[in-house]
Amino acid sequence: MADNLPMFPNTALELVQSLVRMNTVSQNSNLELIHFVRDELLRLGVRSRLTFNADKSKANLFATLGENKTAGIILSGHTDTVPWDGQDWSVPPLGAVVQALPEPRLYGRGSADMKGFIGVALSHAEQFLNSPAPFAVHLALSYDEEVGCFGVRELIADLREAGIKPLACIIGEPTSMVPAIAHKGVYRYRCCVRGKEAHSSLTPKSVNAIEMAARLIGKVRDMAESFERDEPRYEGFDVPFSTASVGQFQGGIADNVVPRDAWFHYEFRDLPTANARLMQQEIVAQARRLEVAMKQVAPEAGFQFETICEIPSFLGSADDPVTLLARQLSGAQRTTEVAFGTEAGIFKQAGIPTVVCGPGSIAQAHQPDEYVSLTQLAQCERFMQRLSATQSLPS
Ligand SMILES: [Zn+2]
Repeated sequence: MADNLPMFPNTALELVQSLVRMNTVSQNSNLELIHFVRDELLRLGVRSRLTFNADKSKANLFATLGENKTAGIILSGHTDTVPWDGQDWSVPPLGAVVQALPEPRLYGRGSADMKGFIGVALSHAEQFLNSPAPFAVHLALSYDEEVGCFGVRELIADLREAGIKPLACIIGEPTSMVPAIAHKGVYRYRCCVRGKEAHSSLTPKSVNAIEMAARLIGKVRDMAESFERDEPRYEGFDVPFSTASVGQFQGGIADNVVPRDAWFHYEFRDLPTANARLMQQEIVAQARRLEVAMKQVAPEAGFQFETICEIPSFLGSADDPVTLLARQLSGAQRTTEVAFGTEAGIFKQAGIPTVVCGPGSIAQAHQPDEYVSLTQLAQCERFMQRLSATQSLPS
């Protein structure tokens, strides 16, 4: 093996620090990180499968530690982070600074979400490779999770084409090392409203795009209120019903011009027991009803919809073997539900039993001075050590 390949640092902490120092904000390339991991795995004799985005600026990485074993457990993490523009940090976001007080912590963007998990998993690569376990361990690193879980779909499609059938998947999003078995979906859409402009003294000959948008926004609000009022509760979530809300709105050019254009973004966060696609169908149906009158004034008037992201909800079970495994490895006495979206629903839809369990807290993710405590990293290390020593999987 060539000597000029980079070497993983000695400790899990140093490895996490190396990852945090790489700027992998979603809008940037993640190839520095992916190549770093690929080269080091190659040093161990392990070849990685890389799948790329359209312009090849970003890649997923999938590797199997234990090639002659038939199937394995995926350790999955996204490589991208959210940005820190406008946030007030007291440490450099890419500095990977360790501070001892008030408790030992590693600070940096992505330290909790979720380079802590990735780094600890990678630092055990050699142990997984030499593990006596009858199953392999797969590493799955994705791009563009934070902007809509886009990368992992390519990774899963590649596994399907290659006939690779993993046994189960553990996603290391920050759950304070408590296995999470459910989260809501995140379905986000853009609606563009085309009206017909006119001098504002001549409104009958116009279609007011803002007013039409407002009617549809009212529908989003009505649906949100009906979820709160009528939906069967799913206890365990901070908000135990589905939510709907409008996040951005724009329209109009001047006070005396009936606006021709308006647009808004809205989202549904549906319970695992609800169905966001049906919610969206309700919005589109309402738009089609509103369009009838709009088109009588101007045939070109109407609503257009674009999907921003559709991240399915996730519902595992406390009795799933992968949940039992995660409890065994983490020593957690309980399972939990989480409020945030992950790639779990996408793995589950691909037929791979999945659980979410990783170091750090979501309360620190996406925040200024994001950190992961060294205690959490140590718990994650124990989790990995136990995984490499596991002789048989729960059934
Ligand atoms: Zn995350």
